[in-house]
Amino acid sequence: MNMNFAALKAAPAIEPDYADQIFSTDTASRRAFRDAMLQAVDLVSEGAAATNSLYSGTSVQGLRGLLDDLDPLPEVGTGIAAALADIGRPALEHALAVGHPAAMAHLHCPVAVPALAAEVLISATNQSLDSWDQSPFATLVEERVLAQLTELAGLPVSASGNFTSGGSQSNMTALYLAAARYGAEARKSGVIFTSEHAHFSIRKSAAILGFADDAVISIATDVQGRMSVSAFEAGLRQVVDVGRLPVAVVATAGTTDLGAIDPLPEIADLAAAQDLWMHVDAAYGGGLLFSRHRGRLAGLERAYSIALDFHKMLFQPISCGALLLGDRAHFAPLASKADYLNPEDAVFADAPNLVERSMQTTRRADALKILMTMRAIGRDGLDELICQTLENTRAAAEAVEARQYLLLARPPSLSTVLFRYVSAGGPELSDAITLKTRAALFHAGIAALATTVLDGRVHFKLTLLNPRSTPDVVHRVLDAIGETACELETHHART
Ligand SMILES: *Cc1c(COP(=O)(O)O)cnc(C)c1O
Repeated sequence: MNMNFAALKAAPAIEPDYADQIFSTDTASRRAFRDAMLQAVDLVSEGAAATNSLYSGTSVQGLRGLLDDLDPLPEVGTGIAAALADIGRPALEHALAVGHPAAMAHLHCPVAVPALAAEVLISATNQSLDSWDQSPFATLVEERVLAQLTELAGLPVSASGNFTSGGSQSNMTALYLAAARYGAEARKSGVIFTSEHAHFSIRKSAAILGFADDAVISIATDVQGRMSVSAFEAGLRQVVDVGRLPVAVVATAGTTDLGAIDPLPEIADLAAAQDLWMHVDAAYGGGLLFSRHRGRLAGLERAYSIALDFHKMLFQPISCGALLLGDRAHFAPLASKADYLNPEDAVFADAPNLVERSMQTTRRADALKILMTMRAIGRDGLDELICQTLENTRAAAEAVEARQYLLLARPPSLSTVLFRYVSAGGPELSDAITLKTRAALFHAGIAALATTVLDGRVHFKLTLLNPRSTPDVVHRVLDAIGETACELETHHART
């Protein structure tokens, strides 16, 4: 990589006063901030412009070696310019370029420029959302954004939410609140229904929250990966018959692999009949709310709670998620009082202290980057970006179908495409070649692909969250898969 670091090296190496390095209200530290930010921004934008590389290809051992050669805590500080040259440079050179059109592995999106600008404001102001006096404007920004989100989701006026680190935390918080309705009985005999394609954070949350080992019941899905309503109905009846306590049903709107959207209205009907808490894990599919396809999430508005992730389909830097509740009163179990933060006798009239809705105490002002993105790009812009990724995905599925050595697993639902590589040597060899091809293309910097298991066999998975992952790019990647797999076949035949 041939980035130009000469300018960095020429800058003064050692700052005269350590106190200037602490961002404060004085002119010297403001100037130090500006200098450091401009250098960092130049490094990032020049780096991105100077190379089209997806990944440097360096091995794990090679990366460890780079870091082993570095003294992380020198006796005398090097100053910002040298630190950027020594650490910033390799950090960029050996990063996975998530904005690269061939970065297609995970639900890991390219980020919106307005959100990156907002990140500067978020970290420089360093507001903390636990109490209003630590984040006067940012607290209200979060409330304003949540009001917009609950409206988009079609929730009633009683709704509210809070920003979280992502889907895992939103899911766990939702299950905690669902369990809180039943006291100790929830842990003893409580059952949580979800589909066999649900995210693993549901099981993990249940374990952390102290549910019994067999508390999570996985309901069968149809061929598209959607929860079977009749199987859920039967499971619910069975649980009630044996005297166990149904605590919640977790529907998924956009499963991690297939992008399947569970039948939300039917699940809501069954849940309502039992007064059962319906949580919708919309960490992935929730992005549709910002597009003309929001109708596909019909039934979402009947949920007790909803997990949304903006670092999946909505172009936000990590981390950025939200938990929405249909009725804000359900946050009550989280509303503990701390003398130093939010005492019983309010200090500031009318001031919301958002710690009362969160598992976290100190918390970033992540809602600001969503607000900046929504304002700067607007409804039409977001709709266009999301539709483009869905279009790209449809085209990618067609490109898979057009190749004899590939077998499309299912028609895509959102922005993932799952397919098999077909080997004449049989399914085991297909599995092995798929895994090896994934690694080879990653280390060659050609494409970042995922693999997953579906129907008991290893599949390739493309996740197309970048509007620039056009059919052209996909064709090149599929050709590269074909070539690499063919070489591996030949090699296998020879050995
Ligand atoms: C990614 C994902 C999660 C986990 O979200 P994090 O933000 O990674 O914690 C939960 N559920 C689904 C369906 C997901 O795709």
